[in-house]
This record gives sequence, structure tokens and C-alpha cells, in this order.
Amino acid sequence: MSAKADNLVEKVRRAGVVGAGGAGFPTWKKIDARVETVIVNGAECEPLLRNDQQVMAARASEMVRGLALTMAATGASRGVIALKKKYTTAIAALEGEIAGEEGISLHLLDSVYPAGDEFVLVYEVTGKVIPPGEIPLKVGVLVSNVETFVNISAAERGEPVITRCLTVTGAVREAKTLFLPVGTTLEAAVNLAGGATVEDWTIVTGGPMMGEAVADPRVPLTKTTSAVIVLPSGHPVVTRKTASLEFDIRITQAICCQCDYCTLVCPRALLGHNFKPHIVMRQVAMGLPIPGSPGVSSAAQCCNCDLCGVYSCPMYLPIGRLNKQVAGRMKEWEWEPAPRLESYRPSPLREYSLIPVSRLTARLGLEAYDRPAPLEETDYSPPRVEIPLKQGIGRPAEPVVGEGDRVRKGQLIADLEPGTMGATSHASIAGKIEKVTPESITIAAS
Ligand code: SF4
Ligand code: SF4
Repeated sequence: MSAKADNLVEKVRRAGVVGAGGAGFPTWKKIDARVETVIVNGAECEPLLRNDQQVMAARASEMVRGLALTMAATGASRGVIALKKKYTTAIAALEGEIAGEEGISLHLLDSVYPAGDEFVLVYEVTGKVIPPGEIPLKVGVLVSNVETFVNISAAERGEPVITRCLTVTGAVREAKTLFLPVGTTLEAAVNLAGGATVEDWTIVTGGPMMGEAVADPRVPLTKTTSAVIVLPSGHPVVTRKTASLEFDIRITQAICCQCDYCTLVCPRALLGHNFKPHIVMRQVAMGLPIPGSPGVSSAAQCCNCDLCGVYSCPMYLPIGRLNKQVAGRMKEWEWEPAPRLESYRPSPLREYSLIPVSRLTARLGLEAYDRPAPLEETDYSPPRVEIPLKQGIGRPAEPVVGEGDRVRKGQLIADLEPGTMGATSHASIAGKIEKVTPESITIAAS
């Protein structure tokens, strides 16, 4: 690795950049590699989300700079910004920025779900199928989210990650997209959007398909919080996410009719992976666990997109959630991953099986909330922030400040030994350290 690339990896590590679109994989680790192609994931396929498309429009220059830096560091000759055809404002902004940038192009996607799944995106852009259980690096590709590249660009200038762009929508007075300090409460984000319009509400973070229902709105937003969606607590999107495992198993036992529609629509199965979710559900219907049952260990190939359960299953069964349970217990049950095939060939029916986001939104009962959430540039500074020490994959960062210390905005407050999987944390507001626990650091503004 060249000294220049090494320099960027270290700067990104120090700035605490993590993948903004998903599980929060430490970005320094991801860019510490050699690849042929770097893909900016601007698919934003979850219904109701509006943040990535607006970041691409409002921060086009920064994002393209982050992409070019990443290409230089990884030796990639090709950089692709993959986004929906319908994001016309972002496309116009990006076309201006990439003119004259060697090797960088746009790849326009249809508005289908889950276009942003890494396996699907890599296939759409390169025509290569990532084998099950592998990562894009296996086929010479690096994929990261829009905001991650903006953060790489800032990190190169020595600026740490202290804000997060998120869509605040659903049952709120005024849906908005905001950059807020990391550690702001979800409740404060709801208030900035004019508050909830229903009496009894629950927040879903991330997205209605793959996101989580949050029991306490006072929890802080993190570097990976892409959306705060307020819904009536009795909405099917909420009740689906809060059902117990026992309920999920019992309802599967009662009504899975083995029609195999889940397998027919599954994006991983359509890429040619040897994965049949209806077989997993058959075994679940017979009771968990069933060590050694054929086909069940392929549950680990599920990306938990929930498309099958929400869209194709006539019984609306929680197939993604159950696959996650099965995959999570494979180690405990000493199951081997499903055997690899020689090669993976997408189904000839794949292009006819892609599901439009608009139809999914209707199926979820979210049409009433499908509206713009314009980006509002705000300098909102909360009176207090709680910054989690673990905001993604890896070890929690170790506090380097103590209670009573004064910190400035952007100051390092939790660190990790270089080379340790994880991400550093920085003060997102200026103030006094109020509390340090093994999980988080609270700062009171001053
Ligand atoms: S689509 Fe639903 S009912 Fe049909 S096999 Fe899959 S889980 Fe069972
Ligand atoms: S949730 Fe369903 S559609 Fe999505 S990857 Fe898993 S099995 Fe396939």
C-alpha cells in the first residue's frame, strides 16, 4: 500500500467513519484493500426515506471527492455512483461534478426493492454475483453509502463524524430531512418535525422494511440512523416488528401453506444462490431447532430484507425475522453453512420478479406518509447528547475523557488502538462531560 493510501486509511480511522447505510462497518477497514471498482450506494430503496437522494444533491462535490479519494487509495480504476433514475435533482448535481473526473460514472436504477442490497447492487452494476457468505471484495468491488463518502472527504481534511443526516417522517406535522448532532435523542428529532400527529406512537428507525421499532424515544441517534419514522403504535409495520419469537413460530406452524412464493420473489434466490426460504419455513413450522435438516442452514444467506414476507407471502409471515433467528443460532446448533456451488447464475425470471417500491409502500399501508421530506440545513444544537461507545461493528471505543472534563465540538472522547475493529467517537457539541458509562458518554452543553 502506498503512503498516500495508508494516510487516508489512518485519517478515516481517526475520524471515526463507519458505513452510514447499514450495520456500521468501520470504513478504515473497508478501504484498506485493493479493488477494481468502487460503488457509491445511492439506491435508497426503503419506502419513505429521502436522505441519501438529498445528500447526493446538496453534497455532490464532497461525495465525488470522497469517491475519488477512495478510488486512489484502493487502486480502483472505476467509480460508479448508483442511484435511482427518479432522483433527477441529484443526477443533475452529480453530472456536473463528475464531468472531467476520469473513471467515474453514474448507474441509473429502477425504483425497485431491495435495489440497495449489496449483492443486488453489485450484480446490477458489474454483472458479477457475490457468492453466499462473502463480501463485495470477493469480486473486486467496494460498496459504501452516500454519506460515508462525504465523511471520507471530511476525514481527509481532519474533520471527524459528528453529525448524521436523517429523514424524519411518518405521522409528524412536517416531514423533514435534517443533519443532526450524533447523540441527539430521537424524540428531539420528532419535535423538530413539528411533533407527532397521533396520540399513541412508536418510532421505527432505519426504514419500514429492515428497521427496528424503538421502545424509548429518548434513545440517541447514532452514525447509522438514517430515518426516524413515527407511526401509530397499532400500525401493522410496528406490530410486525414487536411480535415475540414465540408468536412468529406459532403463526408459522398454523398457516404456512408451503406455496413457495417466498422463494420465487427472494432477491438472493433470484441471483442464483442455493437458498429456498420456504424450506426454512417448513422446518420452522415443524418446531425449532431441527439440527441437520437439509436446506435450513441456508437461512444465513438471507439479507432480512423482508420482501418475501411483506409482499409475496399470502399469510404475511415474518420470514426475514425467522431466518435471522435460525441463522443466529447456527453456531449454537453447530450447523455448517450451506455448501458452495461451482458458480451462481441468476434466474432468467429475475427481471420479471422485481418489486416496485410504490407497490410495496401500498402493501405496507404507508401511502398516506409517502411525501417529500425536504432537507433543512439547521444549526440545531441540543442541550445534551448521549454518544454511544459502539456505533457499529467491532469493539466499543474506550473513553479518553472523564466526568467533569470540558470538551470542544469535534474533540476525540473515545478511542481504540490502531488496527482494532471498531470506530472512535467525538464530541458532537461543546460542553461538560456529565456521565461516562461502559456504553456511552453524556455531554451537557455549555
Ligand atoms: S410464501 Fe408464506 S405461506 Fe408460502 S411457503 Fe413462504 S412462508 Fe409459507
Ligand atoms: S427476507 Fe425473504 S426475500 Fe429477503 S433475502 Fe430473506 S428470504 Fe429472501
